[in-house]
Amino acid sequence: MSVPEPGATDPREAILAQLPARLRQRREELAAALSARLHHDGQEEHVEAGLPRRAEETDDDAAAETQRERDLTDLARMTSELAQIDAVLARAASGDLGECAECSEPIDAARLNVNPAALRCAECQQLIERRQARSRLLGA
Ligand SMILES: [Zn+2]
Repeated sequence: MSVPEPGATDPREAILAQLPARLRQRREELAAALSARLHHDGQEEHVEAGLPRRAEETDDDAAAETQRERDLTDLARMTSELAQIDAVLARAASGDLGECAECSEPIDAARLNVNPAALRCAECQQLIERRQARSRLLGA
């Protein structure tokens, strides 16, 4: 094991220091994308939660329905990412940034770098995803 030289910046610290700014930027991008989706073409119509009226864009009902489902999936994904970013920013405010929300162990720096909104360490995340997959299979 090599000991970091005095004065050298710990790569993890450097990544952590940038996280809140990166998350806020990502949050703005997401919020802008969400609002663009919900106010399609700047129209002030709010049909079906403001989703674009796909049926008017194509004669093909099945295609319109598929596109609508994709819109909903996108919206759900963006909304949940926003919530996750808010949760991580809240942790940053309370000084827990970079710690796993489940086991409180430090989240791997490389993981944080790739996924700044990571709330959990890779192990806990996998456990939770496996648990969720199982409860979906059981119809819970
Ligand atoms: Zn963990």
